[in-house]
Amino acid sequence: MSDKAAAVGSKRLRLRHREKNIDSERSGIRQQRPQFAFALLLFGIVNSLDMAISVMLMFLVDQALAGNYAAARNSLLVIVIIFVLVIPLELLNIFVFSHYIKSTMLGMRTKFLHKVLKLDLHSFNQRGSSVFYSHISNDFNTLESNDIEARYRIATQFIRAFTALAVLAYINILILLLLLVVAAIFLLVANVTGKMLQKHEEERSKLLHGYTSYIREILTAFRLVKSSNLEKRSAAEFGRKSASVQQKGYIIDKVATNIDYVLNLFLYSIILGAMLLVIYLAGLGYLSAGYVVLVINSIGSIIQPLAEAMERIPLFQGARQIWRSIDESLQPLEQEVEETEPFSCLAENIEFREVSFAYEETPVLRGLNLKFEKGRKYLLIGPSGGGKSTILRLLRKYISPDTGELLIDNINLDTIQIEEYLRQIANVEQHVFLFEDSLRNNLTLYKDYSEAEIEGAIEAAGLSGFVAKQPCGLEQMIFDNGRNISGGEKARIAIARSLLRQSDILLLDEAFASLDDEIAKSIEKRLLGLEGVTVIQVSHVVFPETIELYDHVFEIVQGNAR
Ligand code: ADP
Repeated sequence: MSDKAAAVGSKRLRLRHREKNIDSERSGIRQQRPQFAFALLLFGIVNSLDMAISVMLMFLVDQALAGNYAAARNSLLVIVIIFVLVIPLELLNIFVFSHYIKSTMLGMRTKFLHKVLKLDLHSFNQRGSSVFYSHISNDFNTLESNDIEARYRIATQFIRAFTALAVLAYINILILLLLLVVAAIFLLVANVTGKMLQKHEEERSKLLHGYTSYIREILTAFRLVKSSNLEKRSAAEFGRKSASVQQKGYIIDKVATNIDYVLNLFLYSIILGAMLLVIYLAGLGYLSAGYVVLVINSIGSIIQPLAEAMERIPLFQGARQIWRSIDESLQPLEQEVEETEPFSCLAENIEFREVSFAYEETPVLRGLNLKFEKGRKYLLIGPSGGGKSTILRLLRKYISPDTGELLIDNINLDTIQIEEYLRQIANVEQHVFLFEDSLRNNLTLYKDYSEAEIEGAIEAAGLSGFVAKQPCGLEQMIFDNGRNISGGEKARIAIARSLLRQSDILLLDEAFASLDDEIAKSIEKRLLGLEGVTVIQVSHVVFPETIELYDHVFEIVQGNAR
């Protein structure tokens, strides 16, 4: 059973949100405002030059039709000059825009990860890693297209439409009024339809979280799936989950397509009406032929931006929900008991006083009384399911007692600051995590130790032979969580790590399970000889040669110590 699940099961960890002072992740976009503004400015210039070409074309048509060829030639020259100017500016615009996307996404992902790393352990355990994993993969990708890029596209499309409208209006105010009414109605409708999509996007994001967490589970348990012939079952479950995600995507697409269809129809009818009106006015001699050319040229600059904005605005609004769920996941959860007590080292003892604990409805510890004195060595044995690992989880502060007290030097562990406390604890668990880095960094965990200290820990953990075998010694790279390293070697790396930390309290959970007896015995002897270190070891492997070295052996049966 995972520790996350254990934490969820703990009644004491029913936590509330601290809603105050939410520094929205969206603020990351604000930091890139200068780049955003610069990209828009460049777009504005390019767009104005494009519009100037349309206006010059209007003059060119009117001049040519009036037989004024000298003026027409000059207009043509101006058109060519503007055209040449536009090319480099447009390239620069694309470059600045790509850079804006890149730095915004990079900044946001980095900031997000920093915030996740700053979260306290309780808040992280309560949510589980897959929530964050899903945010950083699925949600940030959606936000890149539906928000970061969309806000630029929407802004540029508005600039484009308004420039075209302004130029047309400058020449004829009536057309402006007409088109403004169209734009206002259109924006209103797009806003309403956006809200219809928002709900579906919210549900899709939730489905994606479940989906990602399932994929992770399958990949993590790949070996188990293969060895237990679970492929069919896993594939079926995967099919079910992906079907619901796909179905939601399909519904969203369907709703979005319907919305697009109706709005486009509405928009095109009005634009068509406007064009007919312009042609009618030209027929009456109220507008010039050049102006009709200008309107026909500009109509694309009005329809296309409005249509594109119409597609993007609902998605952009849907992104709000994603931001909210990212922000929420980064909020520390409030504990029932405030952790106010500092912790520097264990001075006297650790005491379980009448401790009871249940996972949901399964009682595990029932009024447990236990005392561990500083510097002494303890072995916890007993039948499987008796509650030994639960005792270690309580000591690691992954969970806390339902009733009774867990006291460290007579201070309730619930009130001790978790980060300071965990710094003094060395943990050797069955599942050892290895970073994709050198063996040295995996042992030191990026802290500074002298070569002698490192050598000492390697020797004590029985790793000397393993290190000597590596072509690059301590600088040997470890890949993919130690794919080529045996379980026993991993356990010894974990033991060496804990020895290097020189912690006050050493907790071992079946650390010797994958070691040869001889190696296990020699490591155990070294650990039991550590002066001043309180060792609490859970093991089903008991050697007659070493059992004598423990100060006390507790047998844990049905949540009580004997
Ligand atoms: P031991 O280490 O002695 O084998 P544990 O402390 O791991 O025992 O487990 C004690 C009991 O609690 C077992 O019955 C186990 O199934 C149950 N248990 C352990 N972890 C969880 C959990 N996260 N959620 C629900 N039940 C759990």
